[in-house]
Amino acid sequence: MGKRIYNFNAGPAALPLPVLEEFQAELLDYKGSGMSILEVSHRSTWFDDVINEAVLRTQRLLGLGDAFEVLFIQGGASLQFCMIPMNLCVADRPVDYINTGTWSTKAIKEAKILGKDVRVIASSEDKGFSYIPKEFAVNRDAAYLHFTSNNTIKGTQWAQFPDAGEVPMVCDMSSDFMSRPFDVRPFGLIYAGAQKNIGPAGSAMVIVRKDMLERTPDTLPTMLKYTTFAEKNSMYNTPSCVVVYIVALVLKWLEETIGGLERMAQINREKGVIIYDFIDGSAFYRGTADKDSRSLMNVTFRLPSEDLEKKFVADAQKEGLGGLKGHRSVGGCRASIYNATGVGAVKSLVDFMAEFERKQG
Ligand code: PMP
Repeated sequence: MGKRIYNFNAGPAALPLPVLEEFQAELLDYKGSGMSILEVSHRSTWFDDVINEAVLRTQRLLGLGDAFEVLFIQGGASLQFCMIPMNLCVADRPVDYINTGTWSTKAIKEAKILGKDVRVIASSEDKGFSYIPKEFAVNRDAAYLHFTSNNTIKGTQWAQFPDAGEVPMVCDMSSDFMSRPFDVRPFGLIYAGAQKNIGPAGSAMVIVRKDMLERTPDTLPTMLKYTTFAEKNSMYNTPSCVVVYIVALVLKWLEETIGGLERMAQINREKGVIIYDFIDGSAFYRGTADKDSRSLMNVTFRLPSEDLEKKFVADAQKEGLGGLKGHRSVGGCRASIYNATGVGAVKSLVDFMAEFERKQG
């Protein structure tokens, strides 16, 4: 096997090595089926067991009880930007959105395209989305409050979720899903593209509170209704089987190897301390997010010049540290340190950063 690098890609992103090894070990003959999981029917008991395991582990890890449906829907997190307003709006009631970056902006755009009465109750656009807004009030008549828990591009994250009172919260957790425990009760819907913290690209996980399903209008096309997915255990049509399978393996790793979300959060905090303490102590690297808003998943930083940033990314790649280029819309550098990127990877990155600074600073 070739040398595996430390992978700091933002998504698709690193997967836990034991997950890849298990995938490899059972690739040619999945549990005595004589087929790979890529080849079995989604109408088989093999696949039923896979999807049921993924759902069960999600319910256990997040403490969902039986109040929520766990769905797999193709079209990525981006399809959810329109499915949410289509399914969850209530006649004559506006919807509240908080804008903290590119992904929230896109979610707002879709709700507006659909002609919904969108109120942007808070935004950090005035300072280039470098912080999480603090002063805002959720309108009590809102059908829901939408926000993005972690802003993958700008490197900001809600340390504490907003208080929406009785208004159901709807959250894009694509880039910090399963990175920490949280109270699910105020949420009407949570969604996450699989390709960052829970698996490969090809599906979003959507967790929807059962009472929210009553809002789905009959007039929606079948494949755009949450109820279609809920009634058929995400198998009204062919699901992205291999994504669901890898998600089940990642969640097994999270439960059995890591020991659950409390422990995962502790490890993620430890990683954050290592890299942010280093950046804060350096005059060469500069973090781009406000300190109280910065993300434990996507660490965004600049070097003194764009030329140095280019060299940094290229030299890092040569040293086996990949994916450190910032998003094309903002430039700079970004280290995505999701669950599968361990403390060792972060320490190696910091060592490399220190050495680069010593040579170039
Ligand atoms: N939301 C967030 C927070 C994201 O980071 C991304 C992708 N980077 C998306 C939504 C869009 O996800 P997808 O490509 O699965 O549509």
